[in-house]
Amino acid sequence: MRFSNSYIPTKKEAPSDAVLASHIFLDRAGFIQQVSAGVYNFLPLGKRVLDKIKAIVKEELDAINAQEVQLGFVTPVSLWEESGRLEKFGKELLRFKDRKENTYILGPTHEEMMVNMIRGQLKSYKQLPLNVYQINHKFRDEARPRFGLMRGREFLMKDAYSFHSNEEDLIREFNLMEKTYKKILDRLGLDYRVVEANSGAIGGNGSKELMVLADSGEDTLIVCSSCEYGANVEAAKREIKTTDLKEPKAEFNKFFTPNIKSIDDLSLFFKMDKHFIVKAVAKIAVFDNEEKIVIYFIRGNDELQEVKAANAIGANEVIDISEDDLKEYGLVVGFIGPLDLDKVEVILDNELKNNANMVCGANEIDKHFIGVDLSVLKNSTFKDIITVKADDQCPHCQHKLKETKGIEVGHIFQLGTTYSKPLKANFLDKDGKEKALLMGTYGLGISRLVASIVEQHHDERGCKWTKSTAPLMVNILVSNIKNEMQMNKGEEIYKALKEKNIDVIIDDRKERFGFKMKDTELIGFPLTIIIGKSLDDGNIEVYDRKTNKKTTVEKSNIILYIMDLI
Ligand code: ATP
Ligand code: MG
Repeated sequence: MRFSNSYIPTKKEAPSDAVLASHIFLDRAGFIQQVSAGVYNFLPLGKRVLDKIKAIVKEELDAINAQEVQLGFVTPVSLWEESGRLEKFGKELLRFKDRKENTYILGPTHEEMMVNMIRGQLKSYKQLPLNVYQINHKFRDEARPRFGLMRGREFLMKDAYSFHSNEEDLIREFNLMEKTYKKILDRLGLDYRVVEANSGAIGGNGSKELMVLADSGEDTLIVCSSCEYGANVEAAKREIKTTDLKEPKAEFNKFFTPNIKSIDDLSLFFKMDKHFIVKAVAKIAVFDNEEKIVIYFIRGNDELQEVKAANAIGANEVIDISEDDLKEYGLVVGFIGPLDLDKVEVILDNELKNNANMVCGANEIDKHFIGVDLSVLKNSTFKDIITVKADDQCPHCQHKLKETKGIEVGHIFQLGTTYSKPLKANFLDKDGKEKALLMGTYGLGISRLVASIVEQHHDERGCKWTKSTAPLMVNILVSNIKNEMQMNKGEEIYKALKEKNIDVIIDDRKERFGFKMKDTELIGFPLTIIIGKSLDDGNIEVYDRKTNKKTTVEKSNIILYIMDLI
């Protein structure tokens, strides 16, 4: 490649809304170009990085006998009606009509399409297992597309789907996919963690996320400081929280607590640790076609985890509720308690089960109960709804948990029959019985990976591509193209490296040295061969982007030196 006739539009200014290094540098260095909110063009350098990532992904998936297919990006709405996912995905689905008034959706994920592809054809256990994948466009009309490639509306995903006749085989493939994803991320040069995940709208059991560790990550992870345990905060567990403090023993009684509403005030008023106070958190749970008020009860020193809260009741999400709305149900903020609360849906945290000597609201203005024995709530629903935090104890080894941030680049699920049942994808088993296919689904965000690599590999000057992902391995920077000796040397090295199949570009632009140097730092080629004044003394400099160090190399040794580094 020659810089002078390549389309690499580098710029000084970052997009005004860019806050992440990956967004700033990928745009400034001419890898990507925004078309509209969350829609990007990949320019030549960006496309080269994409292709490198895709090739690694394909190699590793083909190695475990997954087969590549390519399904339509345009998917008929009827499939989404059949699976029952139309409402769940809601406004994220981009719908449109063709000239015959048929409705279509741009695929945000392809479970329905894949099941549709195999149903009726895959009839016998003898044809199982099967693992098929594609690397294709996805469209999700995200409420807030942002951070460049990180959260686009149109993006690239590698999505794989496996089909099985029994649970053990599904689990075997799920584990194999986890291993394969780890290999892929290792090869890409990423520092990551596999964590337990919430299964969200797609449903099913057993799901894990692959998180690239980065302070800029949108996901909060809970990881053990000692063992391998790690989970998304949306799914994190902990050893039950206990306290050394003595239980504040009291007879059951209704107490006058004038205007004492907050947990802090109650704790002061009763001179009692928040551990022994029941906190009420009121929310509206949003379902496909209705909304419901739900009161969640947790310990005074805990916080509600909203994803767990939504899952506990099978809702799509929970949102805040106003004091006025609560009043309509006769509930007064600050005095809500779980005893005799039957007008609304109630869910208590697992860790409150059978706690005695607690304080809670009495569902009356200015009144709280003391000495409450929660074991009287026999028919109530107890679920895990709290937010696990740093310093809580690991559920496996009881060591301290830590909090860290991550970018979700992959998500693997054991779906079971979530889609095969509604879509009637059955097979004949060994025993001659017709059964629903068991299914696994495995997503990997290809375009998000491009951004994640930059998040982990950059400095204040620009990108630092890893060897396996660099758009080009070597840049030959000719300092002064009017100097014939420099230019000839550049051309000679360019030719020699090309013959050795090295991805190389020659910066033959009529620009100042400083300008070209800034570009090479911004773009982040792993190695830059600088041909400048020192050539008069027979020397060439090699700039290593990873270490930012320059090394002087004798001109006759340059090819050997470069090959050695690569
Ligand atoms: P998120 O929680 O970040 O919205 P998700 O749970 O919706 O992700 P999945 O449905 O599991 O994501 O999709 C599989 C993978 O696709 C994700 O792990 C991520 O790498 C990628 N991905 C999802 N949404 C986007 C997006 N809007 N832009 C870029 N990549 C995305
Ligand atoms: Mg999403």
